[in-house]
Amino acid sequence: MRIEVLGAFGGQSDRCRTTCLVFNGRLALDAGSLAQGLSLERQREIDTIVLSHSHMDHTSSLPFFIENVYDRGSAEINVWASEATTYAIRRYLLNNDAWPDFTRLPNNLLPAVRFRELIEEDPVVLEGLRITPIAVEHRVPTFGFLIEQDNVAVIWSSDTGPTFRFWEIANRTPNLKAVFIETSFDNSMQEIADLSLHLTPRSLVAELAKLERVLPIYIHHMKPPCVEKIRREVDSLGDPRVRFLEQGKVYEF
Ligand SMILES: [Zn+2]
Ligand SMILES: [Zn+2]
Repeated sequence: MRIEVLGAFGGQSDRCRTTCLVFNGRLALDAGSLAQGLSLERQREIDTIVLSHSHMDHTSSLPFFIENVYDRGSAEINVWASEATTYAIRRYLLNNDAWPDFTRLPNNLLPAVRFRELIEEDPVVLEGLRITPIAVEHRVPTFGFLIEQDNVAVIWSSDTGPTFRFWEIANRTPNLKAVFIETSFDNSMQEIADLSLHLTPRSLVAELAKLERVLPIYIHHMKPPCVEKIRREVDSLGDPRVRFLEQGKVYEF
């Protein structure tokens, strides 16, 4: 399983908070930097996008991506998301005011984009990956995902506050190779983290106590002004399992 963590193409990737992963060059998980993080040629190779939730740092490049690949003449783009996420994107992003409604262009029968519904803990097989949506705790309905291919599984939290089911599934998946968990704010911003349903290094400790396995744990989704403090606070935990997910890098599992 090959996972590319996209940052801004040629930019300051460690100061770019958008979320977008590309699996095996074919499937994008979230679309925060899909248009900025990949060349046009590589964008044309992606037919399938899976969205965790509707927030802009996870969806904002979707309109530009659609525009970039619109004329490629191949299959439609399938965007997999919960009913709530699909509703928000159609209402606020592809609403003919903010951006054209590509679910009706060039026509209703053969649109450029089709939304497909993800249902909690109902696995779908997409581009050779088995993807199981897991409900996590955030201000809008949000899925984390268990992603499996052959004998390899990884689990991705997306944005979440303290959560439970995610860890239950991590603990019961024997082939799990890595855990990806958000840490958005440093400890001085605990209150805003709690209100916005995100994690700090302090709340991360409580989350990791729910994991009964010794596995690499990758921290992601650090808010740019908090990066230095989060790195220091996480390092001071002294947990050898924990490392930082780096934008612009490729991970193989
Ligand atoms: Zn969010
Ligand atoms: Zn986010």
